[in-house]
Amino acid sequence: EEGAAPSAEVRPENPYSRLMALQTMGVVPEFERIRDFSVMVVGLGGVGAVAAEMLARCGVGKLLLFDYDGVELANMNRMFFRPEHVGKSKVEAAKEVLETINPDVEYEHYAYDVTLMTNWEHFLDRMQYGGIGEASPVTLVLSCVDNYAARMAVNQACTELNLPWMESGVSESAMSGHIQFMLPGRTACFACVPPLVVAEGRDEGELKREGVCAASLPTTMGIVSSLLVQNALKFMLGFGQISYLLSYDAMGNFFPSGIVRPNPECNLPSCLERQHEYYGQWQPEEWVAAHA
Ligand code: ATP
Ligand code: ZN
Repeated sequence: EEGAAPSAEVRPENPYSRLMALQTMGVVPEFERIRDFSVMVVGLGGVGAVAAEMLARCGVGKLLLFDYDGVELANMNRMFFRPEHVGKSKVEAAKEVLETINPDVEYEHYAYDVTLMTNWEHFLDRMQYGGIGEASPVTLVLSCVDNYAARMAVNQACTELNLPWMESGVSESAMSGHIQFMLPGRTACFACVPPLVVAEGRDEGELKREGVCAASLPTTMGIVSSLLVQNALKFMLGFGQISYLLSYDAMGNFFPSGIVRPNPECNLPSCLERQHEYYGQWQPEEWVAAHA
């Protein structure tokens, strides 16, 4: 009958055929390469858990999930977790959900603090050897944590191992957020431009307003995770223009973008080493061309 919706029995949909259409339409050269990629997601809060879900739905080859916390009722104003997950570790609950959504993805999960010295060797080991195939590094690391110390740990590990990573953040007012693509030695690392309070040697606690509970909106966090995964897909599959620094201002309704160059006086030794290796050898060409 004309105009009737196609029934599921008659046309069983293969979810991948819809993703593969990106290839047929000439957007992405080879979408199936997504199966060769592995992504480490550090922090499974309002941004990280949603990012992991998007990557699982896209059929990424492998996901390595890190978070030291458990699911709480206070997390319900974010996407992904549900009240029945309360009491479980975020990594455990996330793996369970993601496995039902896409069992073809390979999952690794670790419930620990990535800033602890006792976990450092293992954390670096999973970055360096946790990729797909014998002893290969992960394709990309996504930092979805909510504090300075954890960002510095991801920054140091990725800079030492020279792995590409993306940083993300949502402001305490929930009215803005950003994503930043970090290529060690080529773009600024997280230590190249420290927040003013930290640069002055004051306590990180001062970064948070005293007695003020951080706001949180599933919308802003959802937008930031989408920007993050969109950029991850562009980088891995090689389509479109990569964002180096992309911010989202909910109040003003705009998306400022730019690129932050490395600081030759950065106090992270491995950043200076990478800067030296890449000196004069790298230009963000696509970005320059599009924004000139
Ligand atoms: P709240 O706003 O109440 O602090 P949250 O901690 O869930 O909530 P999000 O921004 O939603 O904040 O998520 C950040 C995630 O990063 C959290 O799940 C947190 O457990 C995780 N995280 C932060 N620091 C570390 C760390 N050092 N090691 C592992 N996971 C971390
Ligand atoms: Zn640096």
